[in-house]
Amino acid sequence: MTERLLMIPGPIEMDPAVLAALARKTISHVDPGFIETFGRALERVRGVFLAPSAQPFVVAGTGTLAMELAAQSLVEPGDAVLVVDTGVFSERMASLLERIGANVTRFSPPLGSGPDLGELERALASGMFRAVTVTHVDTSTGVRAPVREVAALARAHGVISIVDGVCSVGGEELRQDAWGVDVALTASQKALGTPPGLAVLALSANAMERYRARKQRVPSLYLDLGEWLPIMQAYEARKPAYFATPAVNLVSALDVSLGQLLLEGMDVRVARHARMADAFRAGIAALGLSLVAQQGAQSSTISAIYFPAGVDGSLVPAIREEGVVVAGGLLAAIKAQYFRVGHMGLTGASEILTTLAAIERALARVGAKVELGVAVAAAQRTLTNR
Ligand code: PMP
Repeated sequence: MTERLLMIPGPIEMDPAVLAALARKTISHVDPGFIETFGRALERVRGVFLAPSAQPFVVAGTGTLAMELAAQSLVEPGDAVLVVDTGVFSERMASLLERIGANVTRFSPPLGSGPDLGELERALASGMFRAVTVTHVDTSTGVRAPVREVAALARAHGVISIVDGVCSVGGEELRQDAWGVDVALTASQKALGTPPGLAVLALSANAMERYRARKQRVPSLYLDLGEWLPIMQAYEARKPAYFATPAVNLVSALDVSLGQLLLEGMDVRVARHARMADAFRAGIAALGLSLVAQQGAQSSTISAIYFPAGVDGSLVPAIREEGVVVAGGLLAAIKAQYFRVGHMGLTGASEILTTLAAIERALARVGAKVELGVAVAAAQRTLTNR
């Protein structure tokens, strides 16, 4: 059997040129060659986030570290924070904010839905919140939140917006500057197409201002964006600097990957993700399966799919046996009732069709009633606009 196709919501399949950057000899973090690479990678972050005026940060760690960096640097004990709760990762944000001593209010739409914007506006207009957080795409549910609208409401009411874009940046539309998003954060291993290990953030001038106006020092050194700021500024100015050793090879890989994203073009890339997601969903619908995310809140990067009646979690290993790796459920309340498929990064028509075909065969393998070929045919029709 050839290698299995990796279709989980991160890490994803990587381009060989990205992996080749990892395999190169590790050079000094202050080598002129690496300074150039890191500086260019930071410039490329601005490009990918569509945030020419923002301050980019790339720090060794995972997406959770990116969340901690944002929360620890911008939220102080006693601050009231509104957390738009669309799944496991929104809840993670709420819990790490609570550990800082923030006063967290969860804004929880029904499962599968984005927030009601009228209600959200009323909450933000109360004047009590210093920050609002929103998970652009919650990887546990596949729900996409209306970030543009949330950021606009936050701006209108003087509230800082923190967007967890771990499962969106590079696959969903995000225009940080134009939308007035204060903090956008992600990790390397999803739609940015780099192996796990880097936290990537961009802060607006407003967010940097908020950082400078803190009453207390950030209690952690590594989580203090103020410690990282001169380092990022130095690399972008192509000067050596040191605070904590950068992940040299991963940053080099990120630079290659971000270069590829920008070469494709962010608008083209976002449209491709939307088209592939449409084709995938058409196949899933043809099988009679339903999604956790409601229409209008379905993301282009991941689908969370309920098992059909009579089928359980054994479908996931059965799909693996058919050559495609997908993920099980994650949200505690429905964990045993669904599975998740990531469709981001390099995913094109072949990967969508391969995955749907594997799901069809796996359904047959576990004894479900399935008409072979219907999912593939429906996706083909979407891909050819017929
Ligand atoms: N936020 C979202 C939306 C995620 O999908 C994830 C990872 N699945 C995280 C945060 C946390 O990222 P990491 O696992 O890299 O710490």
